This record gives sequence, structure tokens and C-alpha cells, in this order.
Amino acid sequence: MAVMEELFGSNVFNDSVMRQRLPKETYRALHKTIDEGRRLDPEVASVVANAMKDWALEKGVTHYTHWFQPLNSVTAEKHDAFISPMPGGAVIQEFSGKELVRGEADASSLPNGGLRSTFEARGYTAWDPTSYAFIKDRVLCIPTAYCSYGGEALDKKTPLLRSMEALNRQAVRILHLFGRMDATRVTPTVGPEQEYFLVDKDLFDKRSDLIFAGRTLFGSKAPKGQELGDHFFGTIQTRVQAFMEELNEELWKLGVLAKTEHNETAPAQHEMAPIYAIASVACDHNQLTMEMMKKVALRHNLVCLLAEKPFEGVNGSGKHNNWSMFTNTGYNLLEPGDSPHESAQFLLFLTSVVKAVDENQDLLRASVASAGNDHRLGGCEAPPPIISIFLGDELTEILEALEAGAAYNGREKKDMTVGVHALPKFPKDTTDRNRTSPFAFTGNKFEFRSLGSSASVSDANVVLNTIVAESLRQFADELEKADDFRGELHDLIVREIHAHKKIVFNGNNYSDEWVKEAEKRGLLSLSSTVDALPCYTYAKNIRLFEMHKVLSESELRSRRDIGLDSYAKMINIEAETMIMMSRRQILPSVIAYAGSVSASVVSLKNAGAPLNCAPDLLNELCSETDRLKVRTDALAEAVAEKPSGDLPEISAAYMRNTVLPAMSAVRESADHLERITDRKYWPFPTYDELLFSIQ
Ligand code: ADP
Ligand code: MG
Repeated sequence: MAVMEELFGSNVFNDSVMRQRLPKETYRALHKTIDEGRRLDPEVASVVANAMKDWALEKGVTHYTHWFQPLNSVTAEKHDAFISPMPGGAVIQEFSGKELVRGEADASSLPNGGLRSTFEARGYTAWDPTSYAFIKDRVLCIPTAYCSYGGEALDKKTPLLRSMEALNRQAVRILHLFGRMDATRVTPTVGPEQEYFLVDKDLFDKRSDLIFAGRTLFGSKAPKGQELGDHFFGTIQTRVQAFMEELNEELWKLGVLAKTEHNETAPAQHEMAPIYAIASVACDHNQLTMEMMKKVALRHNLVCLLAEKPFEGVNGSGKHNNWSMFTNTGYNLLEPGDSPHESAQFLLFLTSVVKAVDENQDLLRASVASAGNDHRLGGCEAPPPIISIFLGDELTEILEALEAGAAYNGREKKDMTVGVHALPKFPKDTTDRNRTSPFAFTGNKFEFRSLGSSASVSDANVVLNTIVAESLRQFADELEKADDFRGELHDLIVREIHAHKKIVFNGNNYSDEWVKEAEKRGLLSLSSTVDALPCYTYAKNIRLFEMHKVLSESELRSRRDIGLDSYAKMINIEAETMIMMSRRQILPSVIAYAGSVSASVVSLKNAGAPLNCAPDLLNELCSETDRLKVRTDALAEAVAEKPSGDLPEISAAYMRNTVLPAMSAVRESADHLERITDRKYWPFPTYDELLFSIQ
């Protein structure tokens, strides 16, 4: 490995490269654009484009692409060579400012949720100068936003940038109330911890469910799962270590701050966490991370599974979204601070999050909804679909004391008044954290843990930024009018804590008691994507997103419909895969095995040595095989009868209500058969091989 200083960011056209390669005025003008979110001057763009091209050519690059994030949670790119024809049959390599700043994308096959009809299929991509250009596979990638000609967002990046602006506008108002006039910009930061599984490619190739659905649709539990807790933080297997080393190197070249790696709870499960970055960059980097994980795995004859629930009976994979807000002066707004003044400011920002989460449980749940994540949420390993906040005992006691106007029972034993008293130090000790909470305060940031492992982090952060912006807007509207700022600030915090404390829960979120308690408190429990996604277009939510100029009604509708449509399509793919595996692999195999058992029964009997258990086994095999056949036919019928209209909510509901239960029935029979069938006959690798074969 090259030395880190040379390696890190070597494929990124980052600030230091720009400083080196751009004329001073151009560099300064570009910076102004980035820092102040301004429009890029065409002349500046053309100088930047030329410098970018020269830099890329030196690194052996031949093509460029506008790299964007369409609404299906992956990334899209279309490569163009730099070549332009010259008289006499020669070519030169060119890259204009226009090509850098704006591209056209005929992407009629990308999901648009009704935002664009196919006859006007073109959308356009526009450079997001807050994300650096980078080189991937000899292609210069320009991170872009992707919009329709009418300006509607067709991607995950545009609303994220808009939501960051919304949060910035409101947070700066609050900071000015606290006299922090030097704070002119507030930016959300995100550090997504990415979980994943690695399986051997030779085994993967033998399973159609892994190939088509990215997760197993059949499979009986292995004799050992995660019960011994010997995988979490365990010694990393040699092959996995080699994979991780190469992954880190690829990510570092791309400027991704890959930091922590370890084995996760389930066998064959691992995690990578980067150092946090501003939300839009963290989103780009997480997309690159997922892409690199898949690519690098293949080089090691491994396959990286990003599905939320690849294996029944062991933990699934999520993405913990660590989130905070920083000022341009480098101050973390969720850091409790030392002085009474800082404590008061911290309490206000903290309260804004508590209020936002309580008032928008529906949106937070919708932001993590997908067919894959439904299998994980509430699976006693991942946060339940009920959204609540963990604050820890110490902070909760402080808020309770404030609310009651009583003495805080901590070491200092004194009344707490906002703006008068400083908060006591509370421990940031990791051992004290509640791992079952979907939304936990962890010392100086919140950790939203409900995101699925394959999802873009955009959706969750768009919601988070916008709902906190709305709390802050209400607070600023009120406090800007205050005659006695400190007094009214105190009253506001007390009032809001009282109104929203029902969302705070420090106990075990996996317990049945919590489900009952949450219902008593009136918290939402939206257990499936089909229940969660429609809330995007509730009147209150349209008002919210439109007020903050993050998403329009039609953009919200498109997101809801694309989500429901993908849900229905994903389940359809899974059902079709199950039918194929059952009919063409499992049934023929178990019938062959039953045939061999029956031959043994006959020959043993003829030899005068009848084996009592053999006919029993034969009976069990035959009756379960019959049941599997009947259940597979029922699934096929359910799939054939699926509604064919364009209403995604109807298709999605049908898939959940009719197809999913039919799939479970098929799986139950098949898994039973797996447990009683000779291994030699079983048509594909089983859980014990998939989960325990990598050394
Ligand atoms: P863990 O939660 O696994 O104990 P940490 O709390 O140290 O680990 O960090 C997890 C993630 O949180 C990392 O990606 C880290 O960069 C990120 N993180 C730390 N501080 C912040 C912050 N202020 N804003 C956003 N993310 C942060
Ligand atoms: Mg964490």
C-alpha cells in the first residue's frame, strides 16, 4: 500500500487539487459558489472543466459521466469519451464548462413516479459543486442532481440539498437569537455505519434466491446461529481481512473516510463505519461504499449482500445514521456545552429534535420503509417500527426536573433554570447506551437506527433535516418576538418537553410491554411499508415539505408511488423465484430422495429386515412434499391474480395481504423437507455452508 498521504483522496478533485491547479481568481470564485450556494459563472465553469480534464487525463481517464442518484436507491452513470473530431480525421480531448455544469439524461427507464411522461423523457443533470468530482474505473465522475425539464427533482440528491438549506435557514435564526452572529451557516453531519454480509461466490451462484432477490427465501436454521456471541467483534477471518484491506484502500482513494471495521453479531456479518461528513457528501460516500463493497468482494470470490434480511433466524443488516448539526465556526449544536448559555442553546436544539420526532413519527417511519426492511424492523434484533427516542437516564432526569420546576437529583442538587445553570456532565460511555432504541441520543449526536442496509441515506436525512427545520422555525418565530428572551426560552423548553415527553423511552424497545405501553401513549406503529408510505402525501406533510421548499406535492406523490411500486415488484420477484426453486429444484429433489427411501423400504422388507423408521420417514417426506406442491400452486395462483392496474397502493397491499402469507407457507414446507432430506439430494447450499464457510 502506498503511504496514506499519497493514497487518501488520490482519485478526488478535491480542495487541495483545486487550489493547486486553478488560477487564484477561479479558485476563489468556485469557493464562493460552494460556500454560499450560488450559481456557477459559465467562465469559471469552463476553467474548472479544463483543469479537471487535464488532471483526469494524467490519471489515464478517457471518459466522464454525470453521476447521479435516481429514485431507485442506486446510482446511475452514462459514460462519454472526452474526444472531439478534428479536421483530417484526428481527435482532441475536450471537456467544456457546459459539459461540466449540465448534462442531458435520456433516462426514460428510470423511475419517475409520474413526474415525467415518456414522450418528454429527457431530464437534466446539474453539477453539485459541494461534492468533489472523482475518478472511478477510469471515468471522471461529476456528482450531479437530476431534475425534469420542469425542475422537479427526479433523484435523491436534490431534496437532500434543499433540506440542508431549510435546516440552515432556521438554525441560523436561532443562533442569532443567542447572539452568535458569527454563525452564518449550519450544516447537518451524517456518519452512516454500514452493515453487510459476505458469502462465498461459488455457493451464492448455486442459489437463485440470492441471485434474484439478494436474500434467501428458503433455508432452515443452522445448528449454530449467533447465540454464543462469538462473532461480534471476533477475530476477523483471513479472507475477510483481505477484503476489508482492499475495500479501505479503494475508499480512501475516493476520499471516503473509512474508519472502523469489525465483525457484527450474525455469522458472516460485518460492519464499516466512516468518519462523519456533511450530509450530502456522506450520502454520496455511502453510495460509493456500497458499490465498492460489492465490487471488491467479487475480487475475493465473495459476494457482498446488502439486503436487510438475507438469512432467517440471525440478525439482519441496517445502517445507523448518526446525525448532528455543525456551524461554519465548527461548533456542534448537539454538544451539551459547559456554560449556562451553551447549555440553554443545547437544550433548545435538543428539544427541537424531540418535538420533531414526536410530531413526525409517520415520516420517519416512511423514510426507512422498503420490502426488505419490513422483515427486519421489529425482528427482535432491530428497532421496532414504533419510533421513540432514547435520551438516557441522566438527560431525561434533567428534562423532568426542568418540567416539574424541581431540583435535579444529580450530584449538584440544585434547581435547573435554562440560561442560568449549566448542565452537569453526563457520561458518554458507550456501555450505557440503549441498543434497542430506533432513535438514540449518544452524547453529541442522534443515531437513527431504523434505516435499511441497502437504502440510500438520503430519504431519512431529508425527513430529519426538514422536521427539525420546522421545529426551529416555530421556536424562532416565537422567540424573535420575546421581550424577556431568557424567561421565554425557559418557558418554551418546559412547555415543549411536557408536550412531547411521550416520545421518550429509555427501556427495552424489543419487549412486548413496550408495544402495549407505546399504544397507551398513542405512538404510531406502522408495521409495513404499505402502511407507512402513504403518509408522504398527508395534508400536514405536504404543507411541511412545501413550506420549507424541500419537496412539492407532486414530488412527494412520486416518492410514495415509487416506493409502493418497488415494494410490489420486489415481492413479485421473490414469489416468482420461490415458485421456480420449488418446482424445478426442491420438488424434483425430494421426490428423487423419497424414491430412494422407498426402494430401501422394499429391499429391507424383502431381506426380512424391515426398518421401522423407514416407512415413517417415507410418510413424512411424502405428505410434506404433497403439501409443498399444493402451497406452491397456491402461491403461483396468488401471483397470477395480482391486480394489473396502475395504482401502486392496491398492488402493494395485495402483495402484503395475499402473496407474502402464501410465500411463508411455501417456505415452511420446504424448510421442513430440508431438515429431513439427505444432504446429497438437497439442490442448493444450506445455511450452515453459507454462514460458516468463510475462513
Ligand atoms: P458507535 O456508535 O458504534 O459506538 P461512534 O459513536 O464512535 O460509534 O460513531 C459512530 C459514527 O458516528 C461514526 O460514523 C462517526 O463518525 C459518527 N459521528 C460521530 N460524531 C458525529 C457527529 N457529530 N455527527 C454525525 N456523525 C457523527
Ligand atoms: Mg453507533
